[in-house]
Amino acid sequence: MSTHDLCDELKKSLIDSLGETKVLWKDADLASYSMESNIQMMRAVKKDKYSPDFVILPTDTHDVQKAVRIAAQYRIPIISKGGGSNLCGMLVPLSGGIILDTIKMNKILEVNKPNLYVTVQPGITLKELEENLARQGLALNQIQGSYKVATVGGSISTSGFPRKHAKYGTIADRIMSLEVVLANGEILRTGQKVLYTSTGYRLHQLFVGAEGTLGIITEATIRVEPRPERQEAIMAYYDNFKSALDAVIKIKTSGVTFVSAEAFTVPKEWYNNTPEGKDALIIADFEGTEGEVEAEVAFVKNIVNKTGGVSAPAEDAQNYVDGYQMIWCGTRAMEDIEGDVICPYIPIENLIEFYDKLWDEIMSKYGIVPSSRGERCGLDCGRYEMAYATFKLPELNENPEYYEKAKLEIAELVTSLGGSVAACMGVGVKYRDFLKLEFSEVALDTMRKIKAVLDPDNIMNPGKKIPNK
Ligand SMILES: Cc1cc2nc3c(=O)[nH]c(=O)nc-3n(C[C@H](O)[C@H](O)[C@H](O)COP(=O)(O)OP(=O)(O)OC[C@H]3O[C@@H](n4cnc5c(N)ncnc54)[C@H](O)[C@@H]3O)c2cc1C
Repeated sequence: MSTHDLCDELKKSLIDSLGETKVLWKDADLASYSMESNIQMMRAVKKDKYSPDFVILPTDTHDVQKAVRIAAQYRIPIISKGGGSNLCGMLVPLSGGIILDTIKMNKILEVNKPNLYVTVQPGITLKELEENLARQGLALNQIQGSYKVATVGGSISTSGFPRKHAKYGTIADRIMSLEVVLANGEILRTGQKVLYTSTGYRLHQLFVGAEGTLGIITEATIRVEPRPERQEAIMAYYDNFKSALDAVIKIKTSGVTFVSAEAFTVPKEWYNNTPEGKDALIIADFEGTEGEVEAEVAFVKNIVNKTGGVSAPAEDAQNYVDGYQMIWCGTRAMEDIEGDVICPYIPIENLIEFYDKLWDEIMSKYGIVPSSRGERCGLDCGRYEMAYATFKLPELNENPEYYEKAKLEIAELVTSLGGSVAACMGVGVKYRDFLKLEFSEVALDTMRKIKAVLDPDNIMNPGKKIPNK
């Protein structure tokens, strides 16, 4: 049967099953889901056009189940989409098929205050959920850079890294139960709505960071926290990144509770407001009861004094924390990304060596410089850790393979220092082949076997996450 005939037949099946209003097939409708519309997808995949054959807009689990059964019958790819904010080409329809957009699966199904959990459909944005919970005195605490657009389903599927992880962990730590439509159309409930139990395999963790390759999350029950009585942030300048880093390590290892702590080199855009001779800064913030926060802030200010930090005005620290939610994390920020960002994990003792080699050896060889908004060095520090650097890619359009070489060298450096290529943001197609640097063939083969058990016909977001043999 020709693709055209198959498309007609598929279209009929999808419309008969879901209804015409939930199926898109016209070029104009598919355009915004095809790769040319997304600069980050283009960066991840470089050449050629990729477009889905259909987009579907389910409203509930049964719609998802029907669509998956059709995809399974025709053995065509089905790619779940949340807010579309990933930067690794996870949504590129490499071999066409169906994009299942969860935009209309955005309901809050239950808020259970005594047991501190919320059950939601996957397409609700982190911001919408956070705002709704705030009105009930609760907090999700999954404040990621993309929080205005990223969804609960997308965040779980990319192992979303939030700013407040030091005190509250990540969404991966807070999942109590998931409902997932598997590749054969069966509906899996991973377990009771309980945060911790010693029964069964922890099935829900399989879907954390799976990037839609193992099944489609249709419902998530997540632990929430009471909203804190007080919040406060502090900021201090240091001579250089090394001294700022030493200060955050002291904070981290002191035993004091903090919500988040970062050390980074001053971005160019901030130069005018930075005290002379200071090249780096730290930011830490605190949440809890009045008494707790007061004691924690006093404790950390003492560390700042002892490590030679110069405290910034309190409102600058607060503006940074508020700005993270208000300014940086919109779709505007995506359009504005002039280059690329890397977010590896690097063992802390190797961090300075990493940055020296990154900029002085690799980036200088390829003529790549820090982006104007970005930092040269940065560490998000606490319970989890993520190094970061943002840079401009002047030659990308003319010379994409140039950047590919730089990326490979960065990945080799990261793994040679005992790190992980992507502590945050996931793999998609961008980092897929670099997993060979980080995992043994036995580990990769175990991943392939899990995938084959759950998705034997490879219809769930094929070509992403795990490298071919
Ligand atoms: C400006 C900016 C800042 C960012 N900051 C951060 C940050 O601080 N921390 C961080 O972790 N990331 C960050 N990111 C990356 C990105 O926002 C996250 O990876 C985010 O969690 C993706 O969510 P999404 O809803 O947009 O998912 P999408 O991009 O739509 O999808 C991501 C992956 O999840 C899968 N998926 C989506 N929904 C489902 C579902 N229901 N079931 C199964 N699979 C599904 C998709 O198939 C895809 O593979 C940032 C991105 C931008 C543009």
